[in-house]
Formats: sequence, structure tokens, C-alpha cells
Amino acid sequence: SRVEAVRSLIPAAREVSVSPAGDFLSCLNVWKSYGNRDVLQGVSFSVKPGEVVAVIGPSGSGKSTLLRLINHLESVDRGEITVGGRYVGYTKVNGLMKPTSGRAKARAEVGVSMVFQNFNLFSNLTALENITEAPMRVHGVPREEAEALARRLLAIVGLSGHADHLPQHLSGGQQQRVAIARALAVKPRLMLFDEPTSALDPELVGEVLSVMRSLAEAGMTMIIVTHEIRFAGEVADRIVFFDEGVVVEEGPPAQVLDNPRKERTRRFLSRIA
Ligand code: ADP
Ligand code: MG
Repeated sequence: SRVEAVRSLIPAAREVSVSPAGDFLSCLNVWKSYGNRDVLQGVSFSVKPGEVVAVIGPSGSGKSTLLRLINHLESVDRGEITVGGRYVGYTKVNGLMKPTSGRAKARAEVGVSMVFQNFNLFSNLTALENITEAPMRVHGVPREEAEALARRLLAIVGLSGHADHLPQHLSGGQQQRVAIARALAVKPRLMLFDEPTSALDPELVGEVLSVMRSLAEAGMTMIIVTHEIRFAGEVADRIVFFDEGVVVEEGPPAQVLDNPRKERTRRFLSRIA
């Protein structure tokens, strides 16, 4: 099955190193501003190995910023983020996290992969080449091995016949499935999804969610920012409701979605229902 196939490709959650609290990812009082706008205002939140966490919240509340910080696409102003129990891509200087050079390598070493709303495939590369690019360039995997893995991944996401297609010849749903295969090709320990189905026509959403569901069942550790509340409730172990740069409320889906404690959560859920 697809779940078995994924499981054979990803590191087992129990092999992952964790913080003393047992967390694989830990964000502690993270602040981030752009100009005079405080986008993240002291975010604390953690993820255990094998856990699937769905992050929901209004647009503009800082969800993408949080994922970009975790993925070392930008640097933290204050607070700290550890993955696998260490600062990755950062060193701590006088209590401040400073990005180190070679963040792509650090990201690769710890195994964080991200899937973006707009797929972000390399438009001049075929589906297969999109998937082999990082293993070959960043990890030094020989071409033959990288291509063999890419073909297995294309089969997992249901695109075996599309290896030689350019992104422009694929539907949005197919492009996003290639992007997921590409993210898996570096054998990540943590997958970040930033509204992976928001740019898709409604009829293409299901095929992407179905791949994500298999990853979750295979034990992949995942953070999923999504507006697909029903999907989040089915797949996530925990829901984090995010608003104005802070975690407002978090807990099991049955609590946060069906019986929220905070008025802000209730208002958000009633707006999108
Ligand atoms: P969300 O993903 O929850 O919609 P974002 O993290 O994308 O929220 O954005 C939060 C706020 O930060 C928004 O007001 C956005 O305009 C601002 N912002 C995000 N990235 C930048 C940037 N690179 N420069 C300036 N402002 C930014
Ligand atoms: Mg966003």
C-alpha cells in the first residue's frame, strides 16, 4: 500500500533525537517583526516525533512566517527554535539566534522539508528532475540512485506516467503531488505544509489531501497550515489555533474544533464554517 511504501522511505519517528521534554521541534517565545509590525509575538509551541499538528487561523496572523522560520528561510528576532534538540542553521550569540551560513545544508542535515501553497516547482525541470535536484545537489546522491528514488516517489503520489513532464503540462493537483514527492526525496524528519491546497481548484484538493493522509498514517511528523478544517480534524493529533502572532488555543481536534475554550477560536470557526 501507499502507507507501507512511504514508511519504507522515511526515518522512523523513534530514531529522531528529541529535546529533554521529548519534543522534536520546539519554538520558545519566538518573536519576529517586519518594520514596526510585530508579526510573531512570543510563539511557543512544540511537536513530538510522529505527531501531526494542524495550524489554523485567520490570514495575516503569522502562520507562514512561523513555518518560514522553522525552515530557516528567515531568522528569528527573539526566542529560539530547536529541531532535533539543537539550534539548526543558527548559533546563539549573546542570547540571540544568528543564522549561520549554509542554511540549506543545515536544513538538509536535520531533515526539514516544506511544501508551499504555490508548489514552487522549478519550471524548467521535469517532474523527475524536480525530485532529484536536492538529493543530487545538496546531499551528493549519485544520479542513478536519485532517479530510482524519484520514480518510487512518483509512484507513491500516483504520477508514474508523468516523470518527463514539465510543470506547465501538469494540473495544479499533479504539481502539488510532485512537490510533495520532491519534499520526501530528502528523507525528511519533519514536513511543513503551508496551505498546500489553497491554490487548487476544488476538484483537485482531494488527491493532494489523500497523499498527505497517507504520510500521516505512515508516521511522518508534520505541521500543516490549512483552511481544510474537516481534514485537519480527521488527520491531526493536535490543532493549534493561531491569531495575531500567538498561539491562542491548542489541543486535540475534538476539543479545539468542537468545544473551543476561547471566544476568538469560536469566532474564527463560525466565520469559516
Ligand atoms: P498568514 O500566513 O497567517 O496569512 P503571514 O505570516 O504570511 O500570515 O503574514 C503575517 C503578516 O506579516 C502579514 O501582515 C504580512 O503582510 C506580514 N509579512 C509577512 N512577510 C513579510 C515580509 N517579508 N515583509 C513584510 N511583511 C511581511
Ligand atoms: Mg500564509
